[in-house]
Amino acid sequence: MFVERIDRARTAMREREVDALLLSVGPDLPWLAGFAALALERLTMLVLTEDGPARLVVPAFEADRVHDPEDLLELIPWQETDDPAALVATALGGAAGGRLAIGDHTWSRFLVALQSELRGSSWTTAGTVLGPLRAIKDDDEIAALGRAGAGVDQIALALQSGEIPLIGRTEVQIAADLRTMILASGHSKVNFTIVASGQNSASPHHDPGDRVVRPNEPVLFDFGGTTAEPDGHPGYCSDTTRMVFTGTPPAEYAEAYEQLRRSQEAGVQAARVGTPAESVDGAARSVLHDAGLGEYFLHRLGHGIGVEAHEDPYLVAGNSEPLVAGNAFSIEPGFYIRGRWGARIEDIVVATADGPRRLNNSSRDLAIVEA
Ligand code: ZN
Ligand code: ZN
Ligand code: ZN
Repeated sequence: MFVERIDRARTAMREREVDALLLSVGPDLPWLAGFAALALERLTMLVLTEDGPARLVVPAFEADRVHDPEDLLELIPWQETDDPAALVATALGGAAGGRLAIGDHTWSRFLVALQSELRGSSWTTAGTVLGPLRAIKDDDEIAALGRAGAGVDQIALALQSGEIPLIGRTEVQIAADLRTMILASGHSKVNFTIVASGQNSASPHHDPGDRVVRPNEPVLFDFGGTTAEPDGHPGYCSDTTRMVFTGTPPAEYAEAYEQLRRSQEAGVQAARVGTPAESVDGAARSVLHDAGLGEYFLHRLGHGIGVEAHEDPYLVAGNSEPLVAGNAFSIEPGFYIRGRWGARIEDIVVATADGPRRLNNSSRDLAIVEA
């Protein structure tokens, strides 16, 4: 699997006239080679040039934790008194001084050290090489995203059925329940747990706080994590949003929610192979616009998802790239009316030759829970 990904990365490097990839912390390295660098001040860096072995500059005392099931890495261990930036320059060989693509998550302290070591090189981000590859999921990746989605769907069900108590508890307390349940549902890591009650539901990325959930108000839940996978295989992310109302919703809210449900459905149905990403956004947005809610839809329709919670492709005005089979992304329209209330509905969807396929399947109705 990783041998094949490295071949594809090298093809993409040639197409983009990149002489070497330099990957450290972040999701690119585990996706490409099945090994994650520790996010610490000692440099771990994969050096991938057009030919020759993939070289890994790694702190000597961490060399034992390098997982290399396909035996594709040549290790360059460095001692505490060595200069790892100089070792990267040596590992680059003839590519030193060429066009270098460095991982988007690499710390600037490493980039600055490498730039002074490698004067005359030109720099770009690895995302320009690997983003388009990572955006097209293979069957195993879609299966992992499906397991992630099924895990959080169970938690959505527990919220919608009233199994997780809401009224009288703080957002922070409820978010703690969500974290526990995310870890119990096949995830190794929690990425976010948004619990936004009452007026807070009008803030799309609300941080859960001390506000106590009261009767007769909306509560927005947006949560996800990264799946636990066998050694050396990177985890895949889940991300879903569902709404609960703690009582009978006023007609105004129920009607707006119904338009949101229609908007989300229109977005999913538009997410077909060959459709430009911005047209999918437009399909969902026009439903809210026609309902008089367009000005309250404050963000793009969706983001790609995979080993990273947000990645290519982005469903946003200005992105005319057509969807291709294997793209996985969120469809998450919302409305946010400051000082009053808000709502969002979010599913992960895969574009397939047979049309859009949802990976979240809990009910999209506005759930009503009573005190
Ligand atoms: Zn978001
Ligand atoms: Zn979300
Ligand atoms: Zn999302």
